[in-house]
Amino acid sequence: GTLPPFANQPPVDFSRSENRDRMRAALGSVREQLGLDLPLLIGAEQVRTDDRIVSENPSNSQVVVALASKASREHADRALAIAEKAAPSWSSRPARERADVLLRAAEILRGRLFELAAWEVFECAKPWPEATADVDEAIDFCEFYARRMIELASPRRRDVPGETNRLEYFGRGVAAVIPPWNFPLAIPCGMTVAALVAGCPVVLKPAEQSPAMAWHLVRILREAGAPPEVVQYLPGEGEEAGAALVEDPRTAIIAFTGSKAVGLAINRTAAEVRPGQPHVKRVIAEMGGKNAVIIDDDADLDEAVVGVLSSAFGYAGQKCSAASRAIVLEGVYDTFVSRLAAALPSWTVGPADDPDTAVPPVINREALDRVERYKQIARAEGRVVAEAVLGPLRDRGHYVGPLIVADVSPHARIAQEEIFGPVLAVIRARDLDEALQIANGVEYALVGGLYSRSPAHIETVRRRFLVGNLYINRPCTGALVDRQPFGGFKMSGIGTKAGGPDYLLEFLLARSITENT
Ligand code: GLU
Repeated sequence: GTLPPFANQPPVDFSRSENRDRMRAALGSVREQLGLDLPLLIGAEQVRTDDRIVSENPSNSQVVVALASKASREHADRALAIAEKAAPSWSSRPARERADVLLRAAEILRGRLFELAAWEVFECAKPWPEATADVDEAIDFCEFYARRMIELASPRRRDVPGETNRLEYFGRGVAAVIPPWNFPLAIPCGMTVAALVAGCPVVLKPAEQSPAMAWHLVRILREAGAPPEVVQYLPGEGEEAGAALVEDPRTAIIAFTGSKAVGLAINRTAAEVRPGQPHVKRVIAEMGGKNAVIIDDDADLDEAVVGVLSSAFGYAGQKCSAASRAIVLEGVYDTFVSRLAAALPSWTVGPADDPDTAVPPVINREALDRVERYKQIARAEGRVVAEAVLGPLRDRGHYVGPLIVADVSPHARIAQEEIFGPVLAVIRARDLDEALQIANGVEYALVGGLYSRSPAHIETVRRRFLVGNLYINRPCTGALVDRQPFGGFKMSGIGTKAGGPDYLLEFLLARSITENT
């Protein structure tokens, strides 16, 4: 039958005690299951390797969340052979059948929402509301892409007397899906189900930091009716399993979200045609950001302070949408800076399973070291206005205190480079014109924000702030499927919009069929 129109999954309201109870219960039961042993899922086979990926809890690095087998090039080769063989029959199934797999997956995800969020709390140190929001987004991707594929599957007709013309879509072929760990269910789910519903078998190589979340995803998709050949689980290292998938001539699409360095390397490698390769590979690469929020002279500063801090320090700044620059007009500069500083203490750093935590630890040791290095650079490049002090937490996990520095030059390293941590640079601008120049003066173009009450200024910024997602008078993270299709350009990405109406076209090829009648 016909589906009800798409609607976003409503967020979990943690002000209600029953939801807090459900989350606590889920954390309790998942805590009992930690230490999962995750085999590779190659076709219907489970493959265990001696060499393992250790996924640990960033909030308490003694705790092992999962041990994943580690795929070699040979495993990638086997998975691709299986996927390639399955492609014709999967892509020739009616679109509605593939869409139904996504709709059933959405149902399963809804039923396991708190449990999956609890896994995220342990594996990726996502605070409660952001963990449940990530599951919500995964549900939204399933519901949205299912409907979109059904629409695309009814051929566009342009008949004239004596001639019928139809445009038909079909899947490009095998997709290698290479997601990040920071939205450990939503992003792998979005990329995977887009490929699946378009008719493309998927080999999923999860991020090394979040193999358990991807494991749950693959199992749920199989339970929802995806044949094992069309969704395979291949944890491994980027340099080995990941590289093998990208290089292989059977791979037709690479869907990647992650750093600029890796995205560009994938794009370069994928461009090289290998012996036996029948197609030009399609690369989807969503990369970094250096996102700015402009604070106008007449902004509502209460809103702006809260919005900038939540955009900068939510999930410890580990979002490609995170605000890392506040560009503040002269007239409100000093007031804004002192109010930012005054508000920082309410951003408590702590373990992700504690509901009072606002800033969780960063993902691993390497991230901690990188962020600490940038904090040193920040202290040298700006005036420290506020910094969280950590105390004994420091020894338990990968905790890092948020840092705000002001009077930063637009050309400073911390004003140009993506840090992916809780460091905010405040930059002064003479007027809106200069603010826009600074805002656009980075290599990225992902997300931007503006706080202003002036309709003329809002209009100017709307026209001239060149980013994929612009947010006016609200925080600049948390794009919703369908409402705010997400993705940027310049060095932030090739220009695709996840959760938007055109995303599935990346995975599809079209045939125009004309019949003389
Ligand atoms: N879609 C997320 C947001 O709007 C960001 C995704 C990412 O960090 O890759 O906040």
